[in-house]
Amino acid sequence: MRAYERLLDYVKVYTTSEDGQEQIPSTMRQFDLARQLAEELKELGVEDAFVDAHCYVYGTIPATPGYEDCTKLGFIAHMDTAPDFCGENVHPQIIENYDGKDVKLGESGRVLSVKQFPHLPSLKGRTLITTDGTTLLGADDKAGVAEIMTVVQELMKGERPHGKVCIAFTPDEEVGCGADLFDIPGFGADYAYTLDGGYEAEVVYENFNACGAEFQVNGVNIHPGEAKDRMVNASIVAMEINSMLPACERPEHTELYEGFYHLCAMSGNVEKAELHYIVRDHDNAAFEAKKKTLALIAKTLNEKYGEGTVALTITDQYQNMAEKIKPCMHLIENAQAVMRELGYEPEVTPVRGGTDGARLSYDGLPCPNLGTGGYAFHGPFEHITAEGMDVAVQIVLGIIEKYAKQ
Ligand SMILES: [Zn+2]
Repeated sequence: MRAYERLLDYVKVYTTSEDGQEQIPSTMRQFDLARQLAEELKELGVEDAFVDAHCYVYGTIPATPGYEDCTKLGFIAHMDTAPDFCGENVHPQIIENYDGKDVKLGESGRVLSVKQFPHLPSLKGRTLITTDGTTLLGADDKAGVAEIMTVVQELMKGERPHGKVCIAFTPDEEVGCGADLFDIPGFGADYAYTLDGGYEAEVVYENFNACGAEFQVNGVNIHPGEAKDRMVNASIVAMEINSMLPACERPEHTELYEGFYHLCAMSGNVEKAELHYIVRDHDNAAFEAKKKTLALIAKTLNEKYGEGTVALTITDQYQNMAEKIKPCMHLIENAQAVMRELGYEPEVTPVRGGTDGARLSYDGLPCPNLGTGGYAFHGPFEHITAEGMDVAVQIVLGIIEKYAKQ
């Protein structure tokens, strides 16, 4: 069975996660796929496969006799799909021998266009899988799940000697909680890779440092007719806060390693106002400097308008995993070597976001990310190719082989 056939099976299962839930999994429907995957692992011969109480699926493939001392590698993908767009009743279109041109997405009126997605011609000749325009596809990250499952199938044939291989499928990645209840000791790997992302020969070990910053502004509300020298308008102070941040350091003006302050939400009246930002930077020193700037703004405005006018709360969210991966760069070098052996030029891209692997890396399981071959996640234009998925499978098998020789 090829990986894309598994993907077509998994996308039928509705696994959208939900923001703002107290429990993990955020939605009980994720158990439907979790149980199916644990069953499938067992059928493939992974005897210890199970689903835990929080919807994490674990399983291990013992080392080939004589390879017990090899590095124990883990492979992780997430089962949920993003709440940003409908993930129910997914009906993929399968286009064999794709011509590299625009694709009509069912009767939805949407078109997957070369203009918007200039990489499409590079997929010419492949089997392209798209949505019908009414849902997302769920290749993020069921492609990763399908690729790992296909790797398991290959290893179970017993033709490729390997060290211990640990498998996990996680819930709630899209709502930022996929790593929260991950059982690292139980998983049993020395190192792991997440399979969750774009171009099939992509490897990622740098992501943002991230925090949320919330300004609460308390104004002084007085009848406007008598306000002179007495009123402090919270909404005006809120605008002043935003005006003190560098206008070029916003998501819409930055790329690659450039960090930003992003105003996600604001509300206010004369009495009270709130500003919600997220702050991102790959560079730790620059990230800390951004936090200092925010604190200085709060201090300055409190000196100007009176203590207690502005309250700032900064909440750390995640950190750049690079610091944890650099001591074990063999994870990146081996992946790149395999990609080159397969005839692909590896792309090492800094992720402008976070990954579950970043959290796991800080919790003691170094965990870079590999591409799955998917594109345009979280919306109706999501697509992937059968051949790209095959390559992702070959890359994982190649990495396992490299560590079996070391
Ligand atoms: Zn994902």
